[in-house]
This record gives sequence, C-alpha cells and structure tokens, in this order.
Amino acid sequence: MASMSAYLDDFGKITVWINRTFYGGKTDWFCITGDHGYCTDLIITGVEDHGDQIRYDLTCPILDFGASYMVREQHGLSVPLIWRMIVNTKQFNDRFTYEGNDLGSTYHQNYTEFALWAPTAVSVTLRVRVSRKLSAYPMVRGDRGVWRIRVSGDLKHATYTYMIERNGVIAESADPYAYSSTGNGRESAVIDLDEIRAIRDYPVSGSPFETDAVIYEANVRDMTSNPFTGTKTNGLFSSLSETGTAYRDMPTGLSYLVSLGVTHIQLMPVLDFSTVDEFHPQKTYNWGYDPMHYLVPEGSYSSDPDDPYARVRELRTLITTMHREGLRVNLDVVFNHVYDVATSPFEAILPYYYFRYNERGYLSNGTFCGNDFASEKPMVRMYIIGVIRALMHTYGVDGFRFDLMGILDVDTMNEIRSAAKRIKGSAMIYGEGWDMPTTLDGARKASILNQSKMPGIGHFNDYFRDVVKGKTSDDQKYDRGYVTGDLGQSFNMLSALSANVLSTPYFKRFDSPEQSINALETHDNNTVWDKMHFCCGNEDRNTRMKRQKMLIASTLCAQGVPFIHAGMEYCGTKNDNSNSYNSGDEINQMNWQRAVLNSEVVEYTKKCIAMRRKYAAFRLRDAKEIEESLHLSVSDGGVVFYDIEKKDPQTSTELMRVIINPTFDERYYHFEPGWHIVLDRNGNESYSPTSAVVVPPLTVIVCAR
Ligand code: CA
Repeated sequence: MASMSAYLDDFGKITVWINRTFYGGKTDWFCITGDHGYCTDLIITGVEDHGDQIRYDLTCPILDFGASYMVREQHGLSVPLIWRMIVNTKQFNDRFTYEGNDLGSTYHQNYTEFALWAPTAVSVTLRVRVSRKLSAYPMVRGDRGVWRIRVSGDLKHATYTYMIERNGVIAESADPYAYSSTGNGRESAVIDLDEIRAIRDYPVSGSPFETDAVIYEANVRDMTSNPFTGTKTNGLFSSLSETGTAYRDMPTGLSYLVSLGVTHIQLMPVLDFSTVDEFHPQKTYNWGYDPMHYLVPEGSYSSDPDDPYARVRELRTLITTMHREGLRVNLDVVFNHVYDVATSPFEAILPYYYFRYNERGYLSNGTFCGNDFASEKPMVRMYIIGVIRALMHTYGVDGFRFDLMGILDVDTMNEIRSAAKRIKGSAMIYGEGWDMPTTLDGARKASILNQSKMPGIGHFNDYFRDVVKGKTSDDQKYDRGYVTGDLGQSFNMLSALSANVLSTPYFKRFDSPEQSINALETHDNNTVWDKMHFCCGNEDRNTRMKRQKMLIASTLCAQGVPFIHAGMEYCGTKNDNSNSYNSGDEINQMNWQRAVLNSEVVEYTKKCIAMRRKYAAFRLRDAKEIEESLHLSVSDGGVVFYDIEKKDPQTSTELMRVIINPTFDERYYHFEPGWHIVLDRNGNESYSPTSAVVVPPLTVIVCAR
C-alpha cells in the first residue's frame, strides 16, 4: 500500500491518509501543486488516528476539472490527487451531466465521430486500428467534460480504444457506448448501423397487452447445444435462427419454440459477458450474468468472435427471424452490477461515478456480486435508457427482463418504460423486484414493495411461486405448495390465481395484474421436476407427472403474466443441480430425448397455452375487472373453484370455471345445463354440452358456459 493517498471528495475538500510506517503518519503541513507548478498550502481542518493510518481532512482552493494536481507533505512525499467522491456531488452533476445522444462512435462514409464523457480526465487519446495499422489521435475537451475527435476516412471496419489520463495514471478502455467489439471485448468497433438495420425485420402484428403474453425463457446456447438438435451449428445465434429441424417427430431449436404457441421468448443474457472465452467457448460454460459490454452482443454466440459485424448481424438475424415466425423477443439485461469494477470501462473512464458506495467509501454490495450499478445517478440512468433504446432500434427487441431489478431505482425504471413504450406500444418491462441490501434508500428501490410507484412494470411473483409450487431455495426444497400437496394453502391459492390484486381477505400485493409475473420455474434454483424429487419424493413418477401438468395448467389459468422456463413442459431435470450457471452444456441444454419421452406433457402444455390465448377470461387487464369477475372458493377438503365471469363474443362464452383438484379423490359435480369442457385431463376441449363434470384426482378441469 502506498505510504500516502490523497482524495478530492468534494469541492474544496481533500482527504489524505498516511501510513503510520511513514514518519509515524505525522505531518505538519500539506500543499498542492497544479500544472503551473506553483505550490498552494492546504489547511488542515481535522486529524483522526485510525491505528495503522492517520486521516487528514483538508480544505483546498476550487480546482480545475481537466487539470492534474499533486499533493505534497512536510517530508517531501508527493502523490497524485485522486478525484473521488467529488464526482458524486450535486454540483458535479449540475455542471457535467450531458444530455446529448452522440456519445460513442458515429459512422459516416467519409469520417467517423468519437465522443467520450470523461469530466475528470486530463487527456484522452483515441487509438484506432484499421486493418492492423494503429493510429493515435488526441481528443479535444469540450463542454460538460465531453472529449471529441472527428477522424476522416472510411472507418467502417475500424476498432478502437481510449487512453484516458486521470488520477496520475493512464487507463486504456473500450467504449461502453460501442455497438460491438473484437473477441473477448479487447477493442470496441465502429459499426455502420445502416448496414445492420438493412437486415429485414418482420414485426409481429397486433399490440398485445402484457397479460396477453405467454413468456418462455430460453438460453441461446442451451437451445441448440444438444447434438440431437440437428442444426448445422450448435450454440450460436445462427444455430437458433435455423428452422425446420427435428429430433424424431419433435421439432427442435427455433421450430420447437414456435410449436409451443408461446408469444414471447425471453432470452437469457445475449449481451457481452466475461467468463466464457469467446475463442474457445467449448472450454467454459456460463449463463452470462457477468456483464462486461452492455450494447455488444456476446461473442461466444457469434460465428466469428473477432469480426465485430458478425455478432451484430447474427443477433439481428435471430431476432428478426423469430419475428418472422410470430415470436416476440424479450432480452434479459443485467444492469445491477458489472463483472469486475477494476477492469470495467466505466471505472477506467470516470472512477467512483458509476457504482454505489457506502458512507465509509466502500463499494455497496447489495447484489452480492461485489458492486451495485448506481442507476440513480443522472449519467448512469441516461446510459441505461440509451442502451435500451439502442437495443430496440438496432435489433427490434420487444421487451426487457431486468435481473435484480430491485437494485435499480424507481425513477429509472419508470423512465425506461416510457422510453420503451414510445418505441413500441406493446413493450414489456419487468424484472426481479427483490428488496436487496444496496445503499439506495428503501423508498427508491425498484422492488415489489414499491410496485405502486411503477405502474405497468412487472415483478416475478414469489408469492405465486411459493403458494402454488412451494418454496424454492435449497433449505426449503422439502416445502410443499398447494399443487404439490399442501392443502393448507388452498385459500392462499385463490390469491395466487387472482394476480394478488384482491384485498382482504385475499393477499394483495399488486395494483394491476400485468405486474404479476407468474413463474413457478426459472433458470434459477431446482427445476419443478427436481424440486418434486424432494417435496414429493415419496410419490411415484406417474403422480408427479400429474402434478407437473397441474403446475403448468395453474400457471396458464391464473390472472397475470404466465412464464414458463425452457424444459418445464417436458418435466425438465438438472439432476437436482440447483444452481447450474456454470455447470456446462450437458446439465443445461435442451434434452430432446426427454421431450420425446414426455411428449404427453409437452402436448398438454401447448393445449393450455392455446386455451389461454383463446379465452380472454384468463387475461383480464385491471384489478377492478378481476374484482368484479372472479368468484373464488374452496370446497370438498381442498378443491379450488375459480370462476371468471366474462362476456367473450369471440368464443360465445360468459363464464369460465376452473376446478383444481390436488387431492387423491375423484370428484363429481352437477351444474346447470349449458357447459362444455374446455380443458380435460389430457388438455382437450370438447364441445358437447354437459352438466355433469368428473374431476379425476390430481387434475385441473376447465369448463365454460
Ligand atoms: Ca464475452
């Protein structure tokens, strides 16, 4: 550790730390030297003994941004002044927040503009590489700390980095505003966006409301990494763009997704992450919640990681192909933390600005990943919104799932939603609204607790998950839910089915049904099938299959937004692995043999999805309608009755009745005439009228009148 460090923590305030090993940590005076060479005395306003170190609080003159300074003490030791917490003051924000949308590189045929926001930098040099030839251009500091240079010539295939001199050292960094990079994110790339947008999009018609969506979570690599997929390549953006593949009679890859009848594919992270070597992707596996470059597609999914255009073109082709096949695409974005602060471009460009710090000056760690991205700071907020807009404009993205959304702040999430809705009226914005221990004030966190401050934004509903399936963490995997056999949850099941928008005696959690993302299984934790190894371990396979089907039917009958994780529809297993983020292809990949083996459940899932999409009663749009239309009750020792009164001219029905029987007994019900079965034990609809309904054990029956 250096003997002395000096930090500019506010306008006119410096904090110095001196090690006791250096003259006992004692000094009688300090001075500061600027570029002009004159020394100005600093006034000591406080001295504190911290054991190994002595802390000095100093007042200083107002210093110039863009200049470098040295702080010297009595014995001649001199260190560069580090611009630290001054960048988190209101005065800094007022002076330097830059609202232009031209940061990054902007390609024109005869020249390219580069702009970098770096208010504390003393100098910035652009290093440009064009067909292996490297050139350096000093950038010019302008208004609000933005450094600019126009480089003439056709830079269509140029790559670049910035050399940023600040705090006494020069850091080399990629450009966080860049659209692409070379392999493993070494250098940013200039991209001619016109060429990318020329790849034809086939926007899906219609403007669905959030509750009309059926979201299916898939991972680009896992969808085609199984050799039985039958795609020409495996694990790439382009592999998932192939259609017409099958294993035996089961469609695979993209054709499988299409065959399910879902509306939205939620892709697990497709933007650049750190831990997979893009040149040797087979050596490592990772889901990608370790973000590096936010606007750059991940190179291990590219056919050529070192060709910056390949990954951009291939992601655009994947999304536009999905659109052509009738699927909308939501991206899973990880704005809550970066993989490594020390090597992050943000920290290289403007240290101490982009992350949250606690009052002792350490990085806040509410994510448990080492750092929390400071979404509430004006330039961080604008950055995130800019990335969201750019992803929609460049790739035609239809919605976003925010990883650990509760780390972000309410205002940023609301602005993201407005920005996204302006581009696409049907854009979906939702995420994990967990309340995380970050340093942000509780009232500002984008968590479930603040759902009323974020109308229209969805949250993964862990009440739904825990009540229907049972709790999910490793130490609670023996816990049962209503459908897995805890009939004590039957009343809670009613709240779960109504998107938690009903008040007492029900459990109210959301103002509106689109805020409830109903997921029983996601990429995290055990699959539903594996959880039943524990909580229903005494039951035979056939019984658990019935429960699996009930779990699927419950998800698709409930008010709110249904969400299915890839493989749930074929009783997917990860061999009881509850955290498979780096467990490799074999554990994570789609298992087509298993899909064929359990095709009965796959077919049942398709029928449940089709039913939901056919009958508007399952897709109510506001709490008032749910309150007026739902009639809920529990009878016969735990059988749930869920009626939805909804005049539906499309299907000529006015009342839907869902009967959920998780008991081991068969039930008989007699209704007034005029009913027909919409979903029987096999998922089939039968149009012959009936007034006698048989509900077998462990079955969901839906009928309509
Ligand atoms: Ca990467």
